[in-house]
Amino acid sequence: MPAMKADAIVLGAGIVGVCAALHLQARGRSVVLVDRRGPGEETSFGNAGLIERASIVPYAFPRAWRDILRYASNRASAVRYDPLFLPRIAPWLFAYWRHSSPARLAEAARAMLPLIERCLDEHDALIAAAGAEDVVRREGWIEAFRTPAAFDRAVAATPAAAALGLRFEILDPRSLREREPGLTGALCGAVHWLDPVAVRDPRALTRHYVDLFTSRGGRSLRGDAQTLAPAEPGWSVTTAAGALEARDAVVALGAWSGALAKRFGHRVPLAVKRGYHMHYAATPGAGLTRPVLDDEGGYVLAPMTRGIRLTTGVEMAAADAPASPLPLSRCEPLARQILPLGARLDAAPWMGLRPALPDMRPVIGASGRQPGLWFSFGHAHHGLTLAAVSGRLIAELVTGEAPVVDPAPYAIGRFG
Ligand SMILES: Cc1cc2nc3c(=O)[nH]c(=O)nc-3n(C[C@H](O)[C@H](O)[C@H](O)COP(=O)(O)OP(=O)(O)OC[C@H]3O[C@@H](n4cnc5c(N)ncnc54)[C@H](O)[C@@H]3O)c2cc1C
Repeated sequence: MPAMKADAIVLGAGIVGVCAALHLQARGRSVVLVDRRGPGEETSFGNAGLIERASIVPYAFPRAWRDILRYASNRASAVRYDPLFLPRIAPWLFAYWRHSSPARLAEAARAMLPLIERCLDEHDALIAAAGAEDVVRREGWIEAFRTPAAFDRAVAATPAAAALGLRFEILDPRSLREREPGLTGALCGAVHWLDPVAVRDPRALTRHYVDLFTSRGGRSLRGDAQTLAPAEPGWSVTTAAGALEARDAVVALGAWSGALAKRFGHRVPLAVKRGYHMHYAATPGAGLTRPVLDDEGGYVLAPMTRGIRLTTGVEMAAADAPASPLPLSRCEPLARQILPLGARLDAAPWMGLRPALPDMRPVIGASGRQPGLWFSFGHAHHGLTLAAVSGRLIAELVTGEAPVVDPAPYAIGRFG
């Protein structure tokens, strides 16, 4: 059987790949999305649902001794590590620590700002086109604090956000309870970020986008990205429907991108920051209107279609190591202190893999070594947030249009 033909193959139907496919299609390319699973069934399935327009500083490695010692004890709720994995991940952590110095963190923030600034506008265009307004809430999110010291530090940092045009309100305990009556008295204040949008079912959003892609003539096939091989001209991949060939191939495999990049000559320091979620029944009269981050606890409670979703912070462990009950079992009692949660609704905690690079910015752009090979991965804590603008950027680079932002900070060549 002759191979199927397309202009572009997008490998990975997570939110990042789906947005890349939509943007390539909008530029007149025939596109096939290839994934070994259904769309949005890996990391894009289970996140906290924030399109985090207010995130102007990337999540850095802690530099204060107080925090380092807390995390080193391996008892913190926000961060856990597998002690046996530590020797393997130590060089990556060291690089992450170096990139988290005040000067380099400021550089990372500057590099990410053009994407962050456009993240919501780009999603909004896709949400409107896909008719997905019913899966988003436009109520912002709340960053809540247990101690006056942490609250004061956060308030002191708000002028930087205001200077960038972000909208927020500072809430004392009374106004916090008025805003979210379900929250209990364990919190001493909060910042309500008004611009960000919350998705009440991240997989449903990905599926809405895939439906839009399909309705515009795109195809979505099952297949193993590891079968990617050079073809004449371009690339071929084996799918459940047969061989597929295209001039361009975009690797958007999230946490699984590093292995494929390596096969084509790129050694990328891609690590995974594992995270978990669990849904809880809302107690009558004590629900949530918008996501709430317990800053000191390091977890988010987000009202989702299925129930209240608790998403944990970071676990440093091998991608394929068994799930650990510890991150959730540490966060759940803290969450019950601030919101009277009902019963667990999932049989087991869900686990996802945030694909993370030590310089806190993704890889978006050309291979530079292999003609027609492109990358969009490594969006770490903000893959949902950045997916739509990343999709636009990679599509512009593939089609040779003027890019919406300078792509230089995201080039894979920065890793040599
Ligand atoms: C607990 C948690 C909370 C989070 N909260 C937020 C949040 O509030 N806001 C935010 O912006 N981000 C958040 N994130 C991060 C965000 O979820 C990720 O950055 C994002 O989902 C990554 O999307 P992706 O498309 O790159 O990867 P994925 O969604 O993981 O997609 C990769 C795809 O590649 C496919 N694949 C892998 N290997 C192969 C292969 N060999 N062949 C074929 N297909 C393959 C997979 O099946 C998968 O569909 C959170 C993450 C976690 C874990």
